[in-house]
Formats: sequence, structure tokens, C-alpha cells
Amino acid sequence: MFSALVIDKTPDYHASLQQLTDNQLPDAEVIVQVAYSTLNYKDALAITGQSPVVRAFPMVPGIDFAGTVLKSKSPTFAVGDQVLLNGWGVGEKHWGGLAQRAAVPAAWLQSIPAPLTAKQAMSIGTAGYTAMLCIQALLKHGLTPAAGPVLVTGATGGVGSFAVLLLARLGFHVTAVTGKTTSADYLKQLGASVVVSRETLSAPGKPLAKEQWAGVVDSVGSHTLANACAQTCYGGVVAACGLAQGMDFPASVAPFILRGITLCGIDSVMQPMPARIAAWQQLASLLQETDFALLSQEITLSDALAKAHALLAGQIQGRLLVNLQ
Ligand code: NDP
Repeated sequence: MFSALVIDKTPDYHASLQQLTDNQLPDAEVIVQVAYSTLNYKDALAITGQSPVVRAFPMVPGIDFAGTVLKSKSPTFAVGDQVLLNGWGVGEKHWGGLAQRAAVPAAWLQSIPAPLTAKQAMSIGTAGYTAMLCIQALLKHGLTPAAGPVLVTGATGGVGSFAVLLLARLGFHVTAVTGKTTSADYLKQLGASVVVSRETLSAPGKPLAKEQWAGVVDSVGSHTLANACAQTCYGGVVAACGLAQGMDFPASVAPFILRGITLCGIDSVMQPMPARIAAWQQLASLLQETDFALLSQEITLSDALAKAHALLAGQIQGRLLVNLQ
């Protein structure tokens, strides 16, 4: 028997903690003993049913996990290997990581890069990995610290916190945007040079505004992303990965055709394996032992139900690490 969160829609949409057996797991090449998972924004949407994230029922949510291979029919992974998984539709179309066991195709798994542990890998989770993908997109575009300040929106969230810390560690001057008036010290600890209030960007703005940012990591969307683009310097680059404010993008083409800015869309779910490996390797080399406690708080599987609501209400700082041991 193992514990799992299970979402079902009969009689009404609900999530509950259940005891399952191995023979209830989907048929797949590899079975993983999950040590840690995380509670992401998408998991919170799935658990609460606020958005149609779940495509098949019953569903075990959890878009990422890390643990040890228990059984393998694949030559790529052997029993005892330390592995992690992000995305690929787990927790949406395939049973995910908010359970003590997961069964998945080998092609979706990757080795946890040294020196990271399973716990550290999930302290990073999909949020940290997505922040790294955003930053790699900015670097690929040629952004350097000498080009000017970089803006991070949704800064106390999972993606935002990692983006602030990683950019600062790479030598960038980071301006962090937050709606949490009490989080300035946290953001400064992560490495932000300047902290500004969310209201400065979240209301409808002008098509073009004063040029301020050489680069942007945006996890918020909507007016915030539109204003961030309007404030991006000539030739600057914006990486957009989220929709915490909204899915809309009420912008004009002005920053693109008059300032030549670039907007890079970032998807973590179907990212090809070489890009995943590159992102995780850079995370493993940039992060330090002391970062993890600052960036994440540990919860249990049963805590995940209540925390899902708090996460969607924007009340969580950093990452929620779910201990499944
Ligand atoms: P979190 O909930 O941890 O962080 C989101 C942050 O956004 C909040 O902490 C808050 O930060 C800010 N925020 C919340 N509500 C609003 C609002 N109404 N207006 C402006 N800012 C707001 O989520 P994650 O960091 O895990 O994910 C962030 C976004 O990125 C989500 O939309 C998620 O779906 C998306 N995402 C996309 C991925 C991809 O593959 N493209 C992968 C991972 C995440 P503060 O209080 O500091 O302002």
C-alpha cells in the first residue's frame, strides 16, 4: 500500500488522500519510489479544480517528483538510480508525483545531476527549472550584466524566487516586483538589488514607457507583462512563462517594432531532453547548500490540500516541498 492524493469528479470534483496498491498504478516502464514532490501553481489549479488542468479521472496530481527507481523494464535506468521528472503531462494526463509511487516511461526521467539530492532537486522543482529555462533564453539572446538591470515579476513565487537568486548569482542587477509588502527582506536575501510594488506594473499602461530593463523574467502575464515589454530597453529580451495575473496579453506591437525587443515564450512541460539536462546542470552548478532552506518549506501530502488554496491566493513565499517518505 502507498499514499496518494487522488482527484476524482464523482459525485463532485474533489481531491482526497487515499491508500493505493501497486497494481492500481498505470502500466509503465519504470516505477519510482517518490521521495519528494512539490506543490506548483498548476498542481494547485488541479487540486482545487479552478482550471481544467486534469484531463483524465481518477488522477494523481503532481507535475514533478524525485526519487529512486524501484522497478525498471528499460535499459536506461536500473533499480536504485536517483531520478527526477518535470512535466510531460504527469499530474494532468498521466498519474503524477503527489504519491509515494509513480509509474512512467523511461524517456520522461532524467538522472538527478550531482551534487544534488532528491530533496534538493525538488526544492528546485518545476519552478526553479522553469526559472533556469527563462534565464537560459535571456543568455542565449546575448544578455549580459553589463547591458543593464533585469526585472523579475511574481518575485516571491516559486519561479520568481529562483529567477531572482539565479540572476543575482550570475552577476545581474535584479529589480524584483512583488505584491507582498512584507517580503522585501526575503527578496534582498535572494539577491534583489531593488524591490518594487506590484501596483507599479499590474494596471493598464502605455504602449511605450521609459526604457528601464535589459531583460525580464515574467511569471505573471496580463498587464504586468505588457508593461514590462513597454519598459524594456532597445534590443532587450523578455522571457514569459506564467499567468498568475492573467492569461491575457493586453499589449501593443510598439516595443517590438520601435525598440526591437524580443519576447521568448518558455514552456517547461514538453521541453526536449537536451535542454532539460542543460538547465538542471546549470542549476546544480549555480545553487549552494544554504539556498534550499531559504527557498523552500517542507509540507506533508495531507498539507497539500489546504496549501493549494493558499498558493492560488498568492500567499506562499518560495517553494512548497512535499515530503513523501
Ligand atoms: P507561485 O504561485 O509560487 O507564484 C506566483 C507569484 O505571482 C505569486 O507568489 C505572486 O508573487 C504573484 N502573483 C500572484 N497573483 C498575482 C496577481 N493577481 N497579479 C500579479 N502578480 C501575482 O507560482 P509559480 O511561481 O510556481 O508559477 C508562476 C506562474 O508560472 C504560474 O502562472 C504557473 O502556471 C507558471 N508556470 C509556467 C511554467 C511553464 O512551463 N511555462 C512552469 C512553471 C510555472 P508576489 O506576491 O511576489 O507578487
